[in-house]
Amino acid sequence: MSTTTAAIASAEAHSAHNYHPLPIVVASAEGAWMTDIEGRRYLDMLAGYSALNFGHGNRRLIDAAKAQLDRVTLTSRAFHHDRFADFCTQLAELCGMEMVLPMNTGAEAVETAVKTARKWGYRIKGVPDGRAKIIVAGGNFHGRTTTIVSFSTDPEARADFGPYTPGFEIVPYGDLTALDAAMTENTVAVLLEPIQGEAGVLVPPAGYLAGVRELTRARNVLFVADEIQSGLGRTGRTFACEHEDVVPDMYLLGKALGGGVVPVSAVVSSAEVLGVYRPGEHGSTFGGNPLACAVALEVVAMLRTGEFQQRATELGDHLHHELGLLVGGGAVDAVRGRGLWAGIDIVPSHGTGRQISERLMGRGVLAKDTHGSTIRIAPPLVISKEDLDWGLDQLKGVLAQQ
Ligand SMILES: *Cc1c(COP(=O)(O)O)cnc(C)c1O
Repeated sequence: MSTTTAAIASAEAHSAHNYHPLPIVVASAEGAWMTDIEGRRYLDMLAGYSALNFGHGNRRLIDAAKAQLDRVTLTSRAFHHDRFADFCTQLAELCGMEMVLPMNTGAEAVETAVKTARKWGYRIKGVPDGRAKIIVAGGNFHGRTTTIVSFSTDPEARADFGPYTPGFEIVPYGDLTALDAAMTENTVAVLLEPIQGEAGVLVPPAGYLAGVRELTRARNVLFVADEIQSGLGRTGRTFACEHEDVVPDMYLLGKALGGGVVPVSAVVSSAEVLGVYRPGEHGSTFGGNPLACAVALEVVAMLRTGEFQQRATELGDHLHHELGLLVGGGAVDAVRGRGLWAGIDIVPSHGTGRQISERLMGRGVLAKDTHGSTIRIAPPLVISKEDLDWGLDQLKGVLAQQ
């Protein structure tokens, strides 16, 4: 048995099988490259679902983390600490908002948004107690908690986990008429991904986000943008909503906010909305801890220069130009996406998404399938053009093979 096979067998014997990883065992990584336990190198074209937008082992982020490790890592929110105010102030400023509520994982940010929208509905909008409704979109992915899977439309994510949390209404993604029809005086929020990542990097029809903004504003409903995967540079802008000049009422951030180092998430909104909380009503032991704040502060500083957004735009234009050439060539049905983010629908006779991912791995490229025959490409934003081209050549090679 190879060391890789042995390591995988051992992992499978002693861990729940809630994932189906590709058969690679990573030992180290730098920039856009990972090295396995047998010394083979792979180009990372997934970047931890955008958690690694700034690449593996980013010097600035690792230095910020190391410096903070030597000072103080955790205080709990029972005390103030000296990185907290800067983090909240600068993240709010990056978002053009007023207040931040820090959590750890993306799912916790979504849970926090649900609680915040309901509380805002009862306290500010005047919705009768217990009647608040939140509208979400079909095909959504917002995380894995019991409440969040309650409004998932993916049977794999949802089955066997009931009873489900009530208070959600699902409408088709991209359909403004359905959204309008679903709104009532008890609607407190519309919760959406500006681009649906897990669904296959689905970009909504032009004008959709602007339409959602108009409808929610007219009906006094909060527009909550889940930018956990789409935000922080991935699409070529700080936020995917910017592509339609839309400013939501609440941004949900996570993944890249932790710089690929620690889990950091946040709800960012106005003083009116986040001002609904009083001490004791919500919290998290690790939320807003000094280490998280130190790393996320550096992430915010890096995003403020615009250089990563610029890279994502330029490399993304190149990526989409190259992928566009593959459409209609017999192996690719369609390509979607924005910036350095693409969903590629493979013609099913060429193999399942999983098979394509395995063949890519055989050529030294790591990507991930989603929903049958879609491959998702989302390399770290620090990838070089040469490496990106090399990765695309491997994809072309795999697709040329039957
Ligand atoms: C990943 C993701 C989440 C959940 O984040 P976790 O950190 O895995 O809990 C929520 N929303 C979107 C859009 C995501 O991509």
